[in-house]
Amino acid sequence: MGKNSRRLYGRALSVLAGGVNSSVRAEPSPYPFFVEKGEGGDIVDADGNRYTDYVMGYGPLLLGHDLPERVEGAVQSEVARGPMYGAPTEVEVELAEFVADHVESVETLRFVNSGTEATVSAVRLARGYTGRDKMVVMEGGYHGAQESTLVERDGETTVPSTSGIPSEFAEHTLTVPFNDDEAVERVFEEHGEDIAGILVEPILGNNGVVRPVEGYHGTLRRLCDEHGALLVFDEVITGFRVGGLGCAQSVLEVTPDLTTFGKIVGGGFPVGAVGGPSDIVEEFTPTGDVFQSGTFSGHPVTMTAGLETLRYAKDEGVYDRVNSLADRLRSGMTDVLEDYAPEYTVVGVDSIFKTVFTRETPEELDTACDSGCEQRQDCSRYGVCPKDAGDIDDTETERWKRLYWTEMLDEGVFLTPNQFECQFVSYAHDEEDIDETLAAYERVLSSL
Ligand SMILES: *Cc1c(COP(=O)(O)O)cnc(C)c1O
Repeated sequence: MGKNSRRLYGRALSVLAGGVNSSVRAEPSPYPFFVEKGEGGDIVDADGNRYTDYVMGYGPLLLGHDLPERVEGAVQSEVARGPMYGAPTEVEVELAEFVADHVESVETLRFVNSGTEATVSAVRLARGYTGRDKMVVMEGGYHGAQESTLVERDGETTVPSTSGIPSEFAEHTLTVPFNDDEAVERVFEEHGEDIAGILVEPILGNNGVVRPVEGYHGTLRRLCDEHGALLVFDEVITGFRVGGLGCAQSVLEVTPDLTTFGKIVGGGFPVGAVGGPSDIVEEFTPTGDVFQSGTFSGHPVTMTAGLETLRYAKDEGVYDRVNSLADRLRSGMTDVLEDYAPEYTVVGVDSIFKTVFTRETPEELDTACDSGCEQRQDCSRYGVCPKDAGDIDDTETERWKRLYWTEMLDEGVFLTPNQFECQFVSYAHDEEDIDETLAAYERVLSSL
């Protein structure tokens, strides 16, 4: 950090709420660094400091900061034709075809402008399609800044988790802990006839990274089928990240009714989408009765960036590369923790990673997952690794933030600034970045 970021933050505090346009960006203390530019896997701040970037825009930047020539060229020629029109374009159809070809549960889509808008629209669609009001969500699941899901459990009821939301909204949302079969069974026993759907991140990606225990999504699928509710996978963060072009649903072997997308599918530009079988998605207006509309939806520049990014990923073996780099990172981190902090858990999958400051040391480590917690029942960590949002909440956030995060930044490594949001390896990183990060990780962990 330095004087230019300090000065920019001072100006920002006068004209932007809290100095930022998304709350989490204000979190680093005493002030955030302002970004000058991205370069490959790095970002450079306003004072010329360079960091290896694993925040990657909080998810959208699969390819890193430099778009490959082919992607950048396509985006630039789209911009040159004029930014947008308010009439349909071919590229919207092409991106929809690409997604429908690669994600098995998706036949028809509606593009929107953010992950939040996607989940808002999916919830409205589920309610409209089923004629029911209640949605089931997971504690610690994140579905953007929307009224129906910014909720928390308060004893037997659900209440808004932020001011500005009438409690009546929260009454239509039922919260259950992730990975808890009995809790969700109970909710369906009690409210089954009123439940429009379950909205769930297939892997909790905004809460430390928690993978499902074996059979959990099968339980959700069965309950939805038995009660005529829709299973909605929020793949805004996992989509085109976990499971490659098939998304997380392709590796979890559960077929949702609806899927929400965002982040990567827009290639770094604002995007969201809802996809599923035609007979459900066609319930959106103009064919159906569920109103959905947007001035910028299907924006040609975004659609081009998304399409060319995904085509590039397919043609160039991007997933093999990013996943193996992240594997190297997670395994290295696991080795470091074994020496210095065996109570901590490395979590993550494919190109996602995080260290969770869990508190209990398992009795032995030999049979533990060696590249990120997989929720294997025969793993020696199984009893102590995080299973739900409550487990993540119990981890030590002050030590994470003030010591670990700050010292990693001092080492030139930019991580998400709290225990919750996950981190990403990009196609622009290389083995050298990973090994330097591991060396920094060892220096920091050995002194925590
Ligand atoms: C990021 C995210 C959202 C919100 O997307 P925005 O584009 O920030 O509105 C919703 N759901 C999940 C799972 C996310 O990770």
